[in-house]
Amino acid sequence: MRVPLAVFIVLAACLRAAAMLPSAPLPPSQPRPTAPVIIDPGHGGGDLGAVVRGVQEKDIALAVARKVRDRLTAWTPVMLTREDDHYVTLDRRVVDAADWDGALFVSIHLNEVRSRRSAGAVVYSFGAARRGHHFRRRHRKVPWMPAPPRVESRGGDALARTIVAELRHDGVNAKQARCDYYVLKEPTEPSVLIELGYLSNPAEAKRLTDPAYQDRLADSLAKAIRAFAVQRAVRGQAPVAAALADGAPSAAAKSL
Ligand SMILES: [Zn+2]
Repeated sequence: MRVPLAVFIVLAACLRAAAMLPSAPLPPSQPRPTAPVIIDPGHGGGDLGAVVRGVQEKDIALAVARKVRDRLTAWTPVMLTREDDHYVTLDRRVVDAADWDGALFVSIHLNEVRSRRSAGAVVYSFGAARRGHHFRRRHRKVPWMPAPPRVESRGGDALARTIVAELRHDGVNAKQARCDYYVLKEPTEPSVLIELGYLSNPAEAKRLTDPAYQDRLADSLAKAIRAFAVQRAVRGQAPVAAALADGAPSAAAKSL
């Protein structure tokens, strides 16, 4: 049977069009910040931070900071205040964070107290510290600096809330608190300081040195940072660029 030429041309065009269709539907586009996410691994070089039974705060802070960066770089630029094991002054960290004009600032530390029982992560945003708070004892004295404007301070509160929600969702014991630590006064971006866990708790210290547990913490932090940045971009509080979403919204995104 001869196929009429017109039918043949239509069939050929249909087949070509079908071949050009993507095999799966494109994911919806989602906004992302154009400004970098700034991760600040605490201490470094001669400043070891807390040291308990040979485990050094500066090493775990850097390891987790790098893991968080690795999880975010495909989606948004990430800057680390230190890339390796060298000392960076708190002033330098604050000045760099301001120069880089980040979407948000996350400082990473580890806890140490006299009790061996305290456990879990604490996520601080800027605010008056409780009296006798251990945080001051473990960190070097820094010059006075004015508090951040209220709007950025509220941004820090919301970021801390998001991170705590994501950690809890992922099975990590976490709570939210306030302190007036120097790096949280950086006035241009929402800032938090995370104590990932207690080196003074032997069981938790062992977990914190385990790369698999560090991966789990980094997964939660990256998810929370991303959820927070997307929410701010949607609300028009941050400059945005279009990006492709991957995966369902996290618990933190839903809790915002
Ligand atoms: Zn520290």
